[in-house]
Amino acid sequence: MTRAWGPERQAGQTQVTNATVQEAQTPTTNMAAPARALAICAHPDDAEFFVAGTFAKWAKAGTFCAYLVLTDGSKGSWGDISSEDLVLLRQKEQRAAAEAIGVQRVDFAGFEDGFLVNNLDTRREVALWIREIRPTVIFAHDPWKPYRLHPDHREAGFLACDAVTAAREPSVYPDSGLPAHRPDKLFLFETNTPDHAEEISHTLEDKIAALLSHKTQYKSTMDIKRDLKGKADPQGIAAFQTRVHEWTQESGKPFNLPHAEVFKKLRT
Ligand SMILES: [Zn+2]
Repeated sequence: MTRAWGPERQAGQTQVTNATVQEAQTPTTNMAAPARALAICAHPDDAEFFVAGTFAKWAKAGTFCAYLVLTDGSKGSWGDISSEDLVLLRQKEQRAAAEAIGVQRVDFAGFEDGFLVNNLDTRREVALWIREIRPTVIFAHDPWKPYRLHPDHREAGFLACDAVTAAREPSVYPDSGLPAHRPDKLFLFETNTPDHAEEISHTLEDKIAALLSHKTQYKSTMDIKRDLKGKADPQGIAAFQTRVHEWTQESGKPFNLPHAEVFKKLRT
């Protein structure tokens, strides 16, 4: 997530009013579990922040869930570790986080952390992943979120949206050997204008457990201190759990849900 979350950031993310929801498409909640779901994320840990509660719920209902992590996460630590070791460690953390909630497939595109670009080459790569995984529902960062500072989240959002468009056209990439694929729905997370919510009350603890799999991110994004032996401060963990509870509670309020992950719907 790269320093994208904390109490201050949380406040910005949760300033969702009833008026905002009414301006968007007709608000909806709790769709039937789809056959296949794919989340396309900038960094290891973004899926846990934004979709893990929903994916945990759907995985229990039989949905085939997959993550595509675009960057290698090589810049996401304030600790003493080489970039090469960090990449491997973050892949391990991401796989553990996915496994904890029943996500069956995790792919790493391996683009350099901090330097993700949406261009014709990366669009093709992501489009072909979509054609291979054939998700019914795709989740991606909302690239139109105003005043977003981190370039990877912005680029990841545009890249995913452009790849969805390319993947659905049979005349695009005819040499790929993969048939075109059009998902039924595209949901954008990390949005300021949510118009769909999934209740996650029963999978909130699974989401938190998945988040806590990302130990390399304790200091930089979760504000959890670790001692010299690497043991995490229990008070820091408890405070983080409280913040996630408050965040999902606040997200659910406009939709009259106790705890929710919220999204902006896009027609595909
Ligand atoms: Zn991120």
